[in-house]
Amino acid sequence: MSKEIPYKIYLEESEIPTQWYNVRADMKNKPAPLLNPGTLQPMKFEELRPVFCDELIKQELDDTTAYFDIPEEILNFYKMYRPSPVMRAYNLEKALGTPAKIYYKFEGNNTSGSHKLNSALAQAYYAKKQGLKGVTTETGAGQWGTALSMACAFFGIDCKVYMVKVSYEQKPFRREVMRTYGASVTPSPSNTTNIGRKMLEEFPGTTGSLGCAISEAVEVATTTEGYRYVLGSVLNQVLLHQSIIGLEAKAALDKYGIKPDIIIGCAGGGSNLGGLISPFMGEKLRGEADYRIIAVEPASCPSFTRGKFAYDFCDTGKVCPLAKMYTLGSGFIPSPNHAGGLRYHGMSSILSQLYDDGLMEARSVEQTAVFDAAEQFARTEGILPAPESSHAIRTAIDEALECKKTGDAKTILFGLTGTGYFDMTAYEKYNNGEMSDYIPTDEELEKSFANLPKVD
Ligand SMILES: *Cc1c(COP(=O)(O)O)cnc(C)c1O
Repeated sequence: MSKEIPYKIYLEESEIPTQWYNVRADMKNKPAPLLNPGTLQPMKFEELRPVFCDELIKQELDDTTAYFDIPEEILNFYKMYRPSPVMRAYNLEKALGTPAKIYYKFEGNNTSGSHKLNSALAQAYYAKKQGLKGVTTETGAGQWGTALSMACAFFGIDCKVYMVKVSYEQKPFRREVMRTYGASVTPSPSNTTNIGRKMLEEFPGTTGSLGCAISEAVEVATTTEGYRYVLGSVLNQVLLHQSIIGLEAKAALDKYGIKPDIIIGCAGGGSNLGGLISPFMGEKLRGEADYRIIAVEPASCPSFTRGKFAYDFCDTGKVCPLAKMYTLGSGFIPSPNHAGGLRYHGMSSILSQLYDDGLMEARSVEQTAVFDAAEQFARTEGILPAPESSHAIRTAIDEALECKKTGDAKTILFGLTGTGYFDMTAYEKYNNGEMSDYIPTDEELEKSFANLPKVD
């Protein structure tokens, strides 16, 4: 390829993909179905209807349709902040002295600051189309709640966010962004739900947890007329919407005849990584090409690298269906590390199956090493990365340094999922040399595995 590779590889607006790609269609071993926690039978469309929007349930349960048309209303919003660029990290490469070629797909160029808006828009659109009044959800660090409140404002529906109390109090800025977009934000646990009141009674002074916030949001959705619950990661439908990331990345790289050898992404619930790799994994599954794919997770919450592949509850309140996934157990509470978006105990069923089939790798990294990478990236590439995204940066740098040793000029693509402006407390800890990492012991994990539901 003699064509010079620019810093930014942009698609034209007219080249934004008009269909999402469903990688399940090309998987020989399909991800295991969601189970009804009472009967242990696969959840049916009718059973999911009180909780989720109809069109989204269809997407959730569809293992065979390869392409879904993106509705025009969603495309019109995508056009306000997409296509997002694929960047060549020339300056980082130079600083590392590596022969590797490093590319990253940057999803932080919207006010919510992350890739989560890609699915929030789709979910708000389908809720509106179904004639619903609004949606409920939970948020931990606040990225998902922010994205959803933007999407609901755009489509003119109500948005009720249950925000883990400790974040509600410690992250007032994200809370105010959500309120500015018209969402109501309630600290969880709250006295607006049965489960919240029960938690407050049993544990007065609790600062809340994601599991409890999920249970409150689901309770409100199922007991309020015209409302449904929406979730920002883990589910098959979310990976489907996020495939826009990979489809754009592939189209942009194809323009210059670039084929990545290694594709890297951070993994919380698996939606950005699943989206980024989808079209590449499709080629791999069909035997058309091969790629090394690496999921990166925090050492403090190592679902892939130390978890069990088993059916588990998706929430602490145990009100949601069971999913088969790599999990640390629904009662596992990771230490309070600074990558809020990577603290979920489980992992997407799709990625779990692909990992179990040996089609992708996983590794865990420690927090201080992650922030070393974040700092180096900020100083060379200019973008202040989110702590979550910096897990992928860490591994991209490590792979590039490996290339330096071997003299191998590999092509690396990683997902830069968002910006870190709301994470300055974490950067402050790092800058003051006060960052530490808690890695769970085998005993702690075994204790958590003992509470996995008995299925099979
Ligand atoms: C939520 C979040 C993640 C992790 O979620 P996935 O579903 O695994 O993609 C990663 N990066 C950012 C910036 C996030 O907000």
